Amino acid sequence: MAGTNGGWKNRGPRECRRSNDERKTGAAHLNSFDIRHSPLDIFAVPDEPVIDLQSDQFFMGEALRQAARACEAGEVPVGAIVVREGHIIARAFNQVELLKDATAHAEMLALTQAQEVVGDWRLTDCTLYVTKEPCPMCAGAMVHVRLARVVYGVSDVKAGAAGSVLNLLQFPTLNHRCEITGGLREAECRALLQNFFAEQRVRQKLEVGQQKPDGQSSGLPPGGRDAELS
Ligand code: ZN
Repeated sequence: MAGTNGGWKNRGPRECRRSNDERKTGAAHLNSFDIRHSPLDIFAVPDEPVIDLQSDQFFMGEALRQAARACEAGEVPVGAIVVREGHIIARAFNQVELLKDATAHAEMLALTQAQEVVGDWRLTDCTLYVTKEPCPMCAGAMVHVRLARVVYGVSDVKAGAAGSVLNLLQFPTLNHRCEITGGLREAECRALLQNFFAEQRVRQKLEVGQQKPDGQSSGLPPGGRDAELS
């Protein structure tokens, strides 16, 4: 603070040369000067945000919020958002069960929303953030809309189409390729899915136990098809 005050003192006389009247006011003038030009003004500048609101980390956090909404709705917890020029223009979570639509993956719903916002089927200046590596259907849609970039959280070693099983996003013979960033906030994305399927298995065991006292299997894989996610 000593240095700052020194700076203020150095500026004072120069500022006080503005008029004779001002010079005559003495201390009273300095008080008014204090109010207008106090070095304490530096504290009025808003603090820099702790979170970078333009970072991949932040945007994946928003996709995770969508995934949490899916979980609350009893859906496989996958969330997606679309970002254009630093703004989120679409948010969606997996709604296959709610809509009784196998194509209602988070990414598909988010892409449709984004196209409505942009007013075009081309999303060439957009980035999609999704908590799980896209499946072949969604990756195909991303190529169709000419998406610039795809950022995903956890890999899907059984069905991932962004490099794990196949790479449709950068397929050599297709007419568009997306930039890919994988593994962002991976642990959180994975934990959400693992917790969901663990709860599903417990629920199914309870249901099977109630319906089949002999413990016979229902024949369905625990947690359904998506339970074998990485
Ligand atoms: Zn999909």
